Amino acid sequence: MTDPDTLIDARDAVASKAVSALELTRRMLTRTQALNPTLNAYNEVLAERALATAKRVDDGEITGPLAGVPIALKDNLCTSVGKTTCSSKMLADFRAPYDATVVKKLEAAGAVFIGKTNLDEFAMGSSTENSAFGPSRNPWDTSRVPGGSSGGSATALAAGLCVASLGSDTGGSIRQPAALCNLVGLKPTYGRVSRYGLVAFASSLDQIGPFTWTVPDAALLLNVISGHDPKDSTSVPLDVPDYLATVEEPVKGLRVGVVKEFADLAGLDPQVKAAFEAAVATYKSMGATVVDVTLPNSHYGIAAYYVIAPCEASSNLARYDGVHFGHRTAEQCKDIIELFSKSRAEGFGDEVKRRIMIGTYALASGYYDAYYVQAQKVRALIKADYDKAFESCDVILTPTSPTPAFKIGEKNADPLSMYLCDVFTVTCNIAGIPGISLPCGFTIGEKPLPIGLQLLAPAFAEEKLLRIARMYEAATDWHKARPILSETI
Ligand code: GLN
Repeated sequence: MTDPDTLIDARDAVASKAVSALELTRRMLTRTQALNPTLNAYNEVLAERALATAKRVDDGEITGPLAGVPIALKDNLCTSVGKTTCSSKMLADFRAPYDATVVKKLEAAGAVFIGKTNLDEFAMGSSTENSAFGPSRNPWDTSRVPGGSSGGSATALAAGLCVASLGSDTGGSIRQPAALCNLVGLKPTYGRVSRYGLVAFASSLDQIGPFTWTVPDAALLLNVISGHDPKDSTSVPLDVPDYLATVEEPVKGLRVGVVKEFADLAGLDPQVKAAFEAAVATYKSMGATVVDVTLPNSHYGIAAYYVIAPCEASSNLARYDGVHFGHRTAEQCKDIIELFSKSRAEGFGDEVKRRIMIGTYALASGYYDAYYVQAQKVRALIKADYDKAFESCDVILTPTSPTPAFKIGEKNADPLSMYLCDVFTVTCNIAGIPGISLPCGFTIGEKPLPIGLQLLAPAFAEEKLLRIARMYEAATDWHKARPILSETI
């Protein structure tokens, strides 16, 4: 029998004993052993622990909605087993003393953790090239990036090294790699999922979410990880609906919004544009009304994000000083300041240093009003634009990424071109609303590359968002395509 590669199929196969949890886990580990040296999806494989958990599932000691299901975790989620490195030299040997709330919830649901996945250092980037441990490679074309920052989580799933994974999304880090690897990637509403145990990058923007092959899989995983957590004061005390129970119900009288300002955005790849237009037409053919909406402040999104995120990062990353946390220089230092400075200079990579410097500059007393306060005002305007737009539509459709997967090294020398990967994704985090990326087509070429469609909804409207996403998925076959990897095994 071929392995079930979706979450729900794997869950059902284990529950019906069509496959044992141990068998499934072993197959994932064997495949990982063969492919990970090329793909670099995992920083660490938790083989021993995975096999032990799987055995306990088979012995009936562990039950739950995800019993025996192999899942991967982004390596910025704290786990009491293995290391939590954030793909940084700074945390190369860090062992978290506790589990993140999402990890605890997955564990309680019976999930088997295959390993910790690669990312851009501290989740800063769009390609995983900023990882201190080398880039992950896109399973659709290994000369290309899988996107980022959760690129390892996307690669691991797309290559069949797990059946679902978790990532974090601060400005697009779940949705963009999902788009580049033909996956479903969901960033929940800010506050829907506890951030306790997620190593902070930009605390007012960060949110944890799932990568899956299908929308119902995303609904199931969201069921498990959502909810209020007294350990995260920004998690919201709202009931969690059963997202899976309603996901197959189409939305009647659906109105989909298309953003006027995004129609002819510079840098939008023509094949992405064509796939996006075809996706809008698909909704129309299902009876949806297409509504023109305007987000007049969206063109300030990147500028506001690249002030707010670095400001918060510069503050959050102050703890890595070689004393409280992280790498400590082996050199002789004359005082504590020199120790801090040398440890940080050695431990952080270039992009992280760039963000810390930008953030420190923008928060300095003479510049605070001009940059940070100004960016917060723009944030309020962007949020108001969305509130207004959602008065006339249920969801907004955009491309997820302006281009398909680019070559490793292609954008490295030019940070601004890398930042522009986020044009369609950052305003969702700025406004705190949920967004999902769905497979919506492929480029034409020798190695066809996946293209993603983004759906955005009002805060806490995940139930409707998933139903509308599922309508598209059920009407199309893009999500059924898999990369051919035998050549690299
Ligand atoms: N690419 C964006 C950045 O570099 C988003 C990263 C993320 O969502 N973690 O900041």
